[in-house]
Amino acid sequence: MSESSLVDPFGRRIDYLRISVTDRCDFRCTYCMDEDVTFMPKEHILSLEEIVTTARTFIKMGTKRIRITGGEPLVRKNILWALEQIANTPGLEELTITTNGSMLKKLGQSLYDVGVSRLNVSLDTLIEEEFNRLTRRNKFKQVVEGIESIAALPFNRCKINSVIMKNQNDDQILPLAKFALAHNMDISYIEEMPLGAITAHDRAESYMSSDDVIELLSNHYQLSKSSATTPGPTQYYKVEGEQGRIGVISPHSHNFCSSCNRIRMTVEGRLLLCLGNEHSLDLKPYIRATNQDKLTLEDAIIKALALKPEQHYFNLDEEPQILRFMSATGG
Ligand code: SAM
Ligand code: SF4
Repeated sequence: MSESSLVDPFGRRIDYLRISVTDRCDFRCTYCMDEDVTFMPKEHILSLEEIVTTARTFIKMGTKRIRITGGEPLVRKNILWALEQIANTPGLEELTITTNGSMLKKLGQSLYDVGVSRLNVSLDTLIEEEFNRLTRRNKFKQVVEGIESIAALPFNRCKINSVIMKNQNDDQILPLAKFALAHNMDISYIEEMPLGAITAHDRAESYMSSDDVIELLSNHYQLSKSSATTPGPTQYYKVEGEQGRIGVISPHSHNFCSSCNRIRMTVEGRLLLCLGNEHSLDLKPYIRATNQDKLTLEDAIIKALALKPEQHYFNLDEEPQILRFMSATGG
């Protein structure tokens, strides 16, 4: 199979796969899910062996980068085994993880040893009480210590991810930048997306644009827009005198769909062609060879790519159009 098989109808090469290995999580971040969220029944989810087989099929077809996410990927039992299998697959250039950091102090070294090259760690505030409110759990020290422990390991650049919400944690924009840069890490500020209906706040009221974040930080740092292309949607700025970079992910204010190279697989094996649309194909019957149409998993992946829409449209003033939460989607 040639690498060109992973091209969508708009000519975009899709070489980046995000795999959600669980929709479960030890946190309940207010922007991501409600406290009493209903998780997928265990019998619906793919086994780790099935996830590894599917990842290897994608790699064979031209996928160069895989990010493991969730839910919280590190709560999945035996995840290190699966990571090692995927990392060792010839053709893969990079295996990365997005985590909430709660288990990093314990698992950081093992993640490095099994072949994970970079980590994104989510942290939205450096005020402990605010952290407890935003995550609805009390693991602030654990997360900060986890981040400090990975900063001391020889990973490629690690990154802090912060969802910024007006009048909630916008006072943390500068402290979070200082924290990340002090640890030689990058930081990305994310505009909150309307994925799933939440009760904790009104997403339209808490919207804060990336431009406002950059304007605020420009008062404290000399920032210059980086022209470097990265696998993800982050627009980076170099920071004078620092190794770490400041970045923004702007699904509302600066649509990045034209350069989208990503698709996502949920833990039940549904291939999502776009974060902000429902276009998808259930790969499970092809992974388990229970499909009626005699297609292989590779055929099904090609068929699914034809469904990738040109772009997403988010409108915070409407009821959420996408009912799945980010935790089910795989951020
Ligand atoms: N549990 C891990 C974590 O928190 O890093 C991985 C999964 S989480 C769904 C991935 C990323 O999505 C996190 O950085 C999180 O802050 C972000 N996220 C969750 N819900 C979001 C939303 N509604 N809008 C924007 N980002 C969101
Ligand atoms: Fe869990 Fe990550 Fe969602 Fe927070 S953002 S609830 S840590 S999946």
